[in-house]
Amino acid sequence: MNCIFCQIAAGEIPAQKVYEDDRFFAFHDVAPTAPVHVLLIPKTHIASIAAMTDAEEAAEMPGFFAAIRTITRQLGIEEGGYRLVVNTGADGGQTVPHFHAHIIGGKALGWPPFHD
Ligand code: AMP
Repeated sequence: MNCIFCQIAAGEIPAQKVYEDDRFFAFHDVAPTAPVHVLLIPKTHIASIAAMTDAEEAAEMPGFFAAIRTITRQLGIEEGGYRLVVNTGADGGQTVPHFHAHIIGGKALGWPPFHD
């Protein structure tokens, strides 16, 4: 599978790992948009929320929010708060077709985040 995030989860492409368990892998975004910017991915290749089947969700996604709680605690942003972003598809701005949640924090974030 020629997927950059699959290769990162497999250790074939280097990344700054922050968390790993049986199902998930998290690493620092190479182009951070805030002091903390981590990507959380399932190890199994799932292209996006839109492409995820119900069976894949049941098998691969349990523990997703627990992983976020562990990561944000570990990075010291649990108390201050953070933002989850899951860009999905072309209009959503998804550039890597392997489902990932951006965990963004470490400062007070503005809202709305996007403009025309
Ligand atoms: P998205 O645009 O939502 O698909 O997000 C893809 C993210 O992956 C972007 O924020 C990129 O900066 C990040 N990214 C791409 N390649 C790498 C890499 N090799 N290591 C870490 N982050 C990456």
